Amino acid sequence: MKDLIEKAAKIIDEAKEVLVFTGAGISTESGIPDFRSPGGLWSKYDPQDFYFDRFISNEKAREKYWQMSTEAYATMKDARPNPAHLAIKCLEDRGKLLALVTQNIDGLHHKAGNSPDKIIEIHGTALSVSCLNCRKPYGRDEIEERLRSGVKVPYCDECGGILKPDTVSFGQSMPEDKMQRALECAARCDACVVAGSSLVVYPAASIPAQAAQSGAKLIIVNRDPTPLDNYATVVIHGSLSEVLGPILCP
Ligand code: NAD
Repeated sequence: MKDLIEKAAKIIDEAKEVLVFTGAGISTESGIPDFRSPGGLWSKYDPQDFYFDRFISNEKAREKYWQMSTEAYATMKDARPNPAHLAIKCLEDRGKLLALVTQNIDGLHHKAGNSPDKIIEIHGTALSVSCLNCRKPYGRDEIEERLRSGVKVPYCDECGGILKPDTVSFGQSMPEDKMQRALECAARCDACVVAGSSLVVYPAASIPAQAAQSGAKLIIVNRDPTPLDNYATVVIHGSLSEVLGPILCP
């Protein structure tokens, strides 16, 4: 493992523009469960219940969605960045971070102090809510307060439209501008670090794939194997809070 960490650190040292791509695994050590590990959200809920078209068309599905989402948000609200998030902040301080593309919706990269203009949240954020009809924005805590007071499914005060956290659900279209910017950075970077993603969710996983295809050195740090391991220059199976610091910020 030590040799692999040194090899990865050398790649980062020599790189000028690094793209970092993070997934739920970077936040598990901040107390936020991922989806696919044992004890993760998909061991308690059926993902089929959370498709966007069901959310739009069915009041019962919306009720279930808000139950799951409230449970997930409770773990995110007061979570603090761990050493892996702070290592990426340090990479930015070294002047090497081209962009930080995250699938996470927990806001922890912002809390770690990375500049908002470097962070591309391709799956949105759970920290705010908006009306799907008139786009009126709401603070997440305000909506959680309504749910605590007994409301099962919240609706817009302004137009009665359906409210939804500003996250991208299964079957909901990706924010095109963010995807395009992420793919441009992938084509341009000279190294790409994947941290804590199973790389099975598409189109998100096409971003590190694009980086490798464009000639960037790919470093994958994940507890479990991923489908892109064969394309990587270095693969490290370890705990992110232990491994990312020595790679990005030795
Ligand atoms: P995933 O659950 O599919 O995969 C997470 C990966 O991280 C797993 O392969 C696991 O082996 C690895 N991992 C977990 N803890 C680790 C640790 N401490 N050190 C090293 N590796 C670790 O997550 P994904 O690839 O991000 O894709 C699923 C979707 O999950 C994303 O779209 C994201 O929006 C959503 N999600 C986000 C959060 C969050 O915001 N924190 C939480 C749950 C799910």
